[in-house]
Amino acid sequence: MTLTKRILIAMGAGLLFGLLLNFLLQGDGRVAELTQLWVVSGVLDTVGTIFVNLLKLLVVPLVFVSLVLGTLVLGNNARVGIMAAKTIGFYLATTCIAITLALSLAILIGPGNGVSLESVTEFSGAEAPSLKQVLIDIFPTNPIAAMAEGNMLQVIVFSLLTGFALCQVGERGQPTRDFFESFDTVIMRMVFILMAIAPIGVFALIAEMVAELGFDLLAALAKYMLTLAGALLLHLIIVYCGLVRVVGGLNPVTFLLNMRPAMLVAFSTASSSATLPITLRTVENRVGVDNSVASFVLPLGATINMDGTAIMQGVATVFIAQAFGIDLTLGQYLTVILTATLASIGTAGVPGVGMIMLSMVLTQVGLPVEGIALVLGVDRILDMLRTAVNITGDATVATLVAKSEGHFDKAVFNETSDTQV
Ligand code: ASP
Repeated sequence: MTLTKRILIAMGAGLLFGLLLNFLLQGDGRVAELTQLWVVSGVLDTVGTIFVNLLKLLVVPLVFVSLVLGTLVLGNNARVGIMAAKTIGFYLATTCIAITLALSLAILIGPGNGVSLESVTEFSGAEAPSLKQVLIDIFPTNPIAAMAEGNMLQVIVFSLLTGFALCQVGERGQPTRDFFESFDTVIMRMVFILMAIAPIGVFALIAEMVAELGFDLLAALAKYMLTLAGALLLHLIIVYCGLVRVVGGLNPVTFLLNMRPAMLVAFSTASSSATLPITLRTVENRVGVDNSVASFVLPLGATINMDGTAIMQGVATVFIAQAFGIDLTLGQYLTVILTATLASIGTAGVPGVGMIMLSMVLTQVGLPVEGIALVLGVDRILDMLRTAVNITGDATVATLVAKSEGHFDKAVFNETSDTQV
């Protein structure tokens, strides 16, 4: 059976099992207590956390090794600057479009009108870092510390520097180059091994999430959730599929079908960073992007390009303003576009961080940060959706850059059989 099918079956089974647990947890007494203790917080949480840990453990070595190799190849190529400029240009443009789309849809639908503000006082407040600190934090003082802390932007800076230096030292760098190439093969093998157990991890993650879902809260915030989900879907279809079709000249349906394994893992883990090993393999082996482009564009994207997160921040800002009965001016909307772009760049690719960065956007436009409490309860499930969009955005840009630079294999794109990941 193909991997995508196995993951889909695991998701379906996780959903059903989660619903059953959710039902058991509703009752009070011994059964609910034991279900929570042994099944939800016990087995499911353990298995799910181990799976995510295993994915995460590959991220730092994978980004380091593949980015050094990517820079090495690109460094020998006169078009490296153009490629980097294209990548960042696409990332910024798609993010700005994402927020604009989110704001327009939210203003049109008005999900926050008439929402009750009862739960607002419960929010304890979250600190978002200042813009200056976000900038300074990109540059590491200690590469080992950056790796140990999993600070991806810092690891990226160090990897780029290593790659460029390796490029310039010529013959003397050969042993180091050989080491990186061989290590890369080993890490890719580890990703392959992990993929085999992905369905088990996905099952546990989905079942746990559904078991703990508060259905009353979902109903109360249905309009907000549907607006957000609609904006994410529109962005996926109009912007990504449109770009793949018009700029890339490729079939967008094939593109999405090829991306399925990575999208499913992103959905289950709610972390672009943990999904990166799978995204890299999927984009190279199923979409047909050359390693030299993928290894540069994707780690950068998993760290700074978060269109789904920006969309959430746009919709949530309008929702909170409406709930508090505050009318935002055009100037404030422009501020939201600017700060949400920066906030999404500063958002780490791990679950829930987009919500914390939302406080930066709210503060900039003078909205009460406590409003976050309104949407916090349903954020996990929306986080899953937006993470799938985040990594698809990275893959779209990787495809466009590879296509325009002649580093794209159309045969792989068209002939992908479902087993290749
Ligand atoms: N979970 C998201 C990601 O990893 C980030 C966020 O929006 O919280 O892409």
